[in-house]
Order: sequence, then C-alpha cells, then structure tokens
Amino acid sequence: MTVRVGVFGAGGRMGTTVCQAVAADPDLELVAAVDPHHAGLDLGQVTGLESDLRVGAGTDELADAALDVAVDFTQLEAARENLAWCAAHGVHAVVGTSGFGDEDLAQLRSAFTTSNCIVAANFAIGAVLMMRFAELAAPWFETAEIIELHHDGKVDAPSGTALRTAERMAAASSDWADDPTTTETVAGPRGAHGAGGIPVHSVRLRGMVAHQEVLLGTTGQSLTIRHDSYDRSSFMPGVLLAIKGVSDHPGVTVGLDSLLSASQPEVPASQPEVARRAD
Ligand code: NAD
Repeated sequence: MTVRVGVFGAGGRMGTTVCQAVAADPDLELVAAVDPHHAGLDLGQVTGLESDLRVGAGTDELADAALDVAVDFTQLEAARENLAWCAAHGVHAVVGTSGFGDEDLAQLRSAFTTSNCIVAANFAIGAVLMMRFAELAAPWFETAEIIELHHDGKVDAPSGTALRTAERMAAASSDWADDPTTTETVAGPRGAHGAGGIPVHSVRLRGMVAHQEVLLGTTGQSLTIRHDSYDRSSFMPGVLLAIKGVSDHPGVTVGLDSLLSASQPEVPASQPEVARRAD
C-alpha cells in the first residue's frame, strides 16, 4: 500500500526537493502540497514536477487529502501550527524545520497521542554519523569546537545540527577544559556557547549548502570530523526513511539514529588472514 504524503513548505528550497523525491518513490504518493507564498499555483510550476496538484494556502485545504504523513520544511512558527494540525488530525509528521527547543518537544510529546512525529535537525545520513562519531570521541578529548557553515539564505544561527552535536558531546563527557581567553579585543571571537560550553561558530557563505566540522583536541593530537552536504538531495534518503518509518515509531522521535539502527546495512565479517592470503 502506498503512503499518502503531503508537504508543508512545498515551494521552498527543501520542500521542492522533498516533493520531487516523494513523487519519484514508487512506495509513496504525493497527494498535497501547502505553501502560502505559492498558493494557487500548479505544483508543476513550482517544483518542475509533472503533477495535477495545486499548492494550497494552509491546513484548511488538507481536510480531504486523507494524508498518512505530512513533511514540514518551513519556519519555526509555521511548523508549530502545522504540527498541531497533524496531531489533532491523526496524521504522522516528519519535521526538518530548524529551531525546535525542549519546550517545543515537550509540547509535541503531549500533542502526538494518536499519530507519530519524527523531528531531525539533519536528515543527511553522513551528518547523523558525524554527530554519533563526535559523541563517541568526546570522552577522549578535553577541548572541542564546532564550526557550522551554511548558505547565505539561512536565517537562524547557530544551526540546529551544531547545537544538537554539542548537546550530545556534552552528554557523553563533562570533562571539558576552561576557555583560556581572558581578553576579547573585538566582540564575540569565541563564538556562541553550546551545551557543556562547547564553542559553536557560524559561517554564512554564498555557494555553500550545509557543512560542519567538529574539532577535538588533546595533548599532542587533534581529530577533525567533517561532513559536507553539497546538494539538497543529500537530505532525501533520510527524509524518505523517516516517511516510511514514522508509523513504526510511536510518539515523538528526535533524530534519525533509531531509524538508522533499525535498517543498518549488513557489515561483511572481516576475512580470516588465511583466506585472504589464499586469494
Ligand atoms: P525556504 O525559505 O526555502 O522554504 C521555506 C518555505 O516554507 C517557503 O517557501 C515558505 O513560503 C514556506 N512556508 C512558510 N510558512 C508556511 C506555512 N504556514 N505552511 C506551509 N509553508 C510555509 O527554506 P529551506 O531552505 O527550504 O529550509 C526550510 C527549513 O528546513 C529551515 O528551518 C531550514 O533550517 C531547515 N532545514 C533542515 C534540514 C534538515 O536536514 N533537517 C536541511 C535543510 C534545511
């Protein structure tokens, strides 16, 4: 049975790519698209897809869409309203919009009782792994800094991915050295402070998409973990995984880790030394 999908923010950079990815997946059916800034236009005009759908202005137009899953890549305030609608109508939600804090998550947990919700600060599987590797490395280093780099259209800073990375590293280790800076000759040279006081630096550059470096240092060595999304297609395998998996994850799930471990590719066992020599 195909999953009936609606996209909030269908005319945006991410929403357009999500519409294209959903339309190309044989297990999914794109049945609704909402974006107040493109309302009334054919979805084809907005996304380049061959589609009979019209872009709707808001949730009022979804009453007859019989959605299974709604995907939201909009703006924080809009996403809060869209998700309230999903929870009230028993529609599963997959959320990529940045900026959800602890209070929002608590609100979502109490609202999503008859349907489920997955919120991920980053749907790129490489970025999910980067966060996991940073968390694993954290207890072995006393100093760490995060540099996130994004396109010049990103309005919020620091990125949700950077803040989430700091939270996970701080949860994995509380043993961070104090910042040695005693004099700041201009304002803000040490960046923002994420969880555990880990400095977070935000770069906004035309031509970039979404990139992050986690720098960790200890005596005599450093480790750099870097992830680059060169294209918005990098987020789509994670978004499709979440759309297909959300009905199996009750309540509110934060991040993609639990979905990835459920669909872990089989790692071939290492060949015994003798067998390798015989090749
Ligand atoms: P964008 O500005 O290009 O698109 C947002 C779209 O949402 C716009 O077209 C806008 O008209 C629409 N919108 C506003 N209010 C709406 C409403 N009430 N209902 C429906 N649509 C509405 O932004 P973008 O680059 O596509 O990013 C969208 C969000 O996704 C941002 O918060 C961004 O940080 C986040 N993002 C997350 C990931 C991830 O992997 N989680 C990746 C990239 C971007």
